[in-house]
Amino acid sequence: MQIGLVTYKPEHVEGFDPHVYYSKWADGQAFPAAKGMQNDVTVFCDAKAIREDPTIVSTSHNGPALRRNRRNNLAFDFVCPTHPLYRTKVYEYLDILSKEDITGVTLNLYHFADEGYCTCPRCTEQRQKSGLSWTEWRAKTVTAFLKEAKTHTKGTFAVEMFPDPVLAKERFGIDFSAIAELVDYFHVPLSSRDYFTNYWVDTIVRDFVATLKKPVVVELSSELPTDEKLGALLKTVSYISRHTLQAVLLLVHDSENARQIAYFAVHNSDFREWLDTYEFTKMKQIVDNWEKTY
Ligand SMILES: [Zn+2]
Repeated sequence: MQIGLVTYKPEHVEGFDPHVYYSKWADGQAFPAAKGMQNDVTVFCDAKAIREDPTIVSTSHNGPALRRNRRNNLAFDFVCPTHPLYRTKVYEYLDILSKEDITGVTLNLYHFADEGYCTCPRCTEQRQKSGLSWTEWRAKTVTAFLKEAKTHTKGTFAVEMFPDPVLAKERFGIDFSAIAELVDYFHVPLSSRDYFTNYWVDTIVRDFVATLKKPVVVELSSELPTDEKLGALLKTVSYISRHTLQAVLLLVHDSENARQIAYFAVHNSDFREWLDTYEFTKMKQIVDNWEKTY
């Protein structure tokens, strides 16, 4: 199992591999490619684009896919996934990234906002013409988008997902078995302010590993933690390392934040004894490797 980073700064940190760099954010900011890294691109969540042209927002019978619409519980503002001009802009950005020497591209938020979306006139017309059910049309739409988007990328191709292993198709149009044909791995983000309670991480990881037909990479939030939070995070990484994972990725603010985690693990004798006692072989290898540097 590898231990890598998801980061907002394109800095390589010793002891971590792979590096995933957030090159386009849900607020609409887009950055130049991070060379030698997996570049992570937010697709249909773009608050800036929606501010500039509110007509592109995805809609439902419960109103627009905006955070301020409290009839829903959305973390981001969503553009309609069939908007042709917006899609073209995404493809153009992927083309720019893929001219550079990058490892590959990960797409996130490339799906419908939730089960009631999108009921805009264009989506309604496209679905009627397809003759498919609501669920099937939405899943086909997302898979077809990913197929097209992939032709604008190079290297390792991966997708994130909303971490719902059961209702992803019905809610978001995410068809895991169809998407497995397109990707090199699945990137499962399990974000939290802390991991003092971690049974849900272990459970969701187990479900995804059993469900997905491609390797699984799990992301955990690791920004500016306290020593207590760091201890809980490292134990959570240890528990999920018992499943068959390609990598665990730690989401950090910057390289200093990443070094702090490795240093804490190496110099925490209680934690290292705990790894030995309960035979966390894969995690022990990671910490032993960090010890060479930290
Ligand atoms: Zn629509």
